[in-house]
Amino acid sequence: MTYREEKTMKHARELDKQDSLAQFRNEFYIKENHYYMDGNSLGLLSKRAEQSLLTSLNDWKEHGIDGWMDGHEPWFYYSEKLGEMTAPLVGAEKEEVIVTGSITTNLHQLLATFYQPRGERTKILADELTFPSDIYAIQSQLELKGYSPDGHLVQVKSGDGYTLKEEDIIANMTEDIALILLPSVLYRSGQLLNIKRLTAEAHKRDIVIGFDLAHSIGALPHQLHEDGVDFAVWCNYKYLNSGPGGVGGLYVHSRHAGKKPGLSGWFSSRKDTQFDMDHTLHHADSAGAFQIGTPHILSSAPLLGSLELFEEAGMDNLRRKSLSLTRFMMDLFQQELSGYGFTVCTPLEDDRRGGHLSLQHEEAARICKALKANRVTPDFRSPNVIRLAPVALYSSYEDVWETVQILKRIMENEEYKQFENTRNVVA
Ligand SMILES: *Cc1c(COP(=O)(O)O)cnc(C)c1O
Repeated sequence: MTYREEKTMKHARELDKQDSLAQFRNEFYIKENHYYMDGNSLGLLSKRAEQSLLTSLNDWKEHGIDGWMDGHEPWFYYSEKLGEMTAPLVGAEKEEVIVTGSITTNLHQLLATFYQPRGERTKILADELTFPSDIYAIQSQLELKGYSPDGHLVQVKSGDGYTLKEEDIIANMTEDIALILLPSVLYRSGQLLNIKRLTAEAHKRDIVIGFDLAHSIGALPHQLHEDGVDFAVWCNYKYLNSGPGGVGGLYVHSRHAGKKPGLSGWFSSRKDTQFDMDHTLHHADSAGAFQIGTPHILSSAPLLGSLELFEEAGMDNLRRKSLSLTRFMMDLFQQELSGYGFTVCTPLEDDRRGGHLSLQHEEAARICKALKANRVTPDFRSPNVIRLAPVALYSSYEDVWETVQILKRIMENEEYKQFENTRNVVA
């Protein structure tokens, strides 16, 4: 074991003092003496997000229908504006991104667009650890094309039940694969996959590849355009703090500009001809073409204020702090929690982990309940994973320190035994 300096509360406070992003915490509504470690499921509300929502509400109050063009932020261009603001976070050109739908509906749209079986190439490659909704969408799209998911959905196996090996993914890129869908960061373990390498390998074999960025957008920078990724989807309510059910986003590489959307609607149209009300659709030649119906303005509006914060803080700075927070937390796990039966299932290397850490424990469900009873908000993933996400925009090193101390106390005193080891309905 390498020698590490003992970490203390004083140490945490020092790190907070040196933190150049510390002032962003004041932008958020944070309950005093509560430790929110669940920004990877639902980010907290910021004052800016609240304000941009109120602005759209006020535009409705003031302008009625004319809010579409005459509001403070005209609703007719709202999704495009948010797409443009999101583009730097995913390393895309502004025409390549649109804010619309949810992860799952956007996946349906992009699978309907990009899954084009031809000859022997009829299968879709995913992985066995991915989020269920992504798998359900793939299964539906296979069935819609007349294929059985049993034979046509190939899922890369995991050796340890938590992580994937890139070599195994590449070995599965065979001649019968038409499309690949992978997570950037795995939702359970927090493993970060090498997007650039996997994209290059897929393209060598003439396979279309897309990524689900649910657990990486807002947590780390991306270079989707430069890496040549064909398409991507994400939600904005996790690290991007746009609120419960906040509208999601998608990216389509400019090499596919002008491609006909698999699922069309009047908002797929070029903006200038949309209100011609012609029955022949002239779809936009940007990512905007993958919209379907009227944008959900009130569920998009908080994102506008929230994205301003990301612009001001800078994604590279946020990633640096996020890695430092999770490194600090891992050091504390080692220092404070050994002997209590925890296993860290997140890869330890900086370039292989996202923004959250995952602890595996047999009693995970009730340990999470005990944490909540002690003012720590963790996140439980069935059957045995505790996820903890110190968020660069609003978490402090002291929060991390307190969280681990509370966790240690719960284990020491066996406080978790007061709870049942079963998950809640939403967990
Ligand atoms: C959060 C999450 C989802 C949720 O999809 P929605 O359509 O936004 O409800 C899907 N996939 C992954 C990987 C997620 O982490």
